[in-house]
Formats: sequence, C-alpha cells, structure tokens
Amino acid sequence: MDDKEIFRHIPDNEIAWHAGDGRKEGGGNMNGIGIEICVNRNSDFNTALKNAAWLVATLMKKHNIAIENVQQHHFFNGKNCPEIMRRQGLWDNFIAMCRAEFAKLS
Ligand SMILES: [Zn+2]
Repeated sequence: MDDKEIFRHIPDNEIAWHAGDGRKEGGGNMNGIGIEICVNRNSDFNTALKNAAWLVATLMKKHNIAIENVQQHHFFNGKNCPEIMRRQGLWDNFIAMCRAEFAKLS
C-alpha cells in the first residue's frame, strides 16, 4: 500500500512469508495478516500511514482482531520493520490512528 492504493497480494487466510519466522507455531507467518507500507520518494508517507491505519482497523473488524495483536514485523523476527516508524518513534501514534479508524467503523 502507498498513499494512493492498497493492493491485496493474497487472501487473508493464506500463509505468506512476511514476518520472517518460517512456520513457527503461533508465529507471524502462520497467524498474522501481513501489511507492508511502500515508502517512495514521490509518495506521501503520512497519507500512506493513514491508509495503513484504515486497513488495520478494517481487518481488525473483519477478523475480530484485538489491537494488542497488531504487531510490528520486528516483534516476530527482530528485523527493523517497519523501519521509518521505528526510527522516528511513530509506532504508538500509529496504533492510536488504528484505534481511531476502528472507532469510526463501529
Ligand atoms: Zn515488514
């Protein structure tokens, strides 16, 4: 996803290799829905974040996922992802954005 569109690569219930933790039981690949935010020089990162928050909220509602289970890829495998959010300390704010989007859907 970027500041203009969201592209679904695979169905929500299909296993993908986004979290980098293989087939670990209870892990991100086996249990999580992977979201990647595109960071392009010619796109608006803040708008991409807003779109990501909307998508997170929509998936939370659709699959009955608690906000506590919205995790960084870093949580599963230690990689520095989402890198800009981590570097700029934006994660807590992003979670707040997800909560706000979720409230709008309820
Ligand atoms: Zn990632």
